[in-house]
Amino acid sequence: MAIERTLSIIKPDATENNNVGGILQLIEKSGLRIVAMRRMHLTKAQAGGFYEVHKERPFFGELVDFMTRSPVVVSVLEGEDAVAKYREVMGATDPKKAADGTIRKLFAKDIGENSVHGSDSLENAKREIAFFFAEADLL
Ligand code: ATP
Ligand code: MG
Repeated sequence: MAIERTLSIIKPDATENNNVGGILQLIEKSGLRIVAMRRMHLTKAQAGGFYEVHKERPFFGELVDFMTRSPVVVSVLEGEDAVAKYREVMGATDPKKAADGTIRKLFAKDIGENSVHGSDSLENAKREIAFFFAEADLL
């Protein structure tokens, strides 16, 4: 294992419901450290660009509408095995299948409005971090 960085997005359903603090608390309790953070309202172009890999999926339009509905909180998390560790803390994409104690089990409504995003590989983490943060934000 190695020290890694991963990208987290606290999604619109979670900012609307004032769950930002609760989610950040679970992240910190897991041992991951928040090394950069920013609240922003994504444009359709930003959301579509970020989720470009899903553009052929039937839910793409719905996903872009959802991600631009309200502000999000993007952050960079650092720690041992951070990519896999944060996926564990998030829980399964569908909150009905998420393990007890995970962010999605505790806060998410359904498979679409599932409160958080986390990078799914180290390679994607690098790309996603660069999408939102400049080198100078990440010293
Ligand atoms: P994320 O990439 O947001 O961390 P994930 O990796 O668990 O989530 P993906 O398969 O990458 O899941 O899907 C990206 C996002 O698209 C999901 O988090 C969810 O918001 C939305 N999504 C996925 N499947 C569906 C679906 N069947 N219906 C509606 N929205 C969906
Ligand atoms: Mg994904």
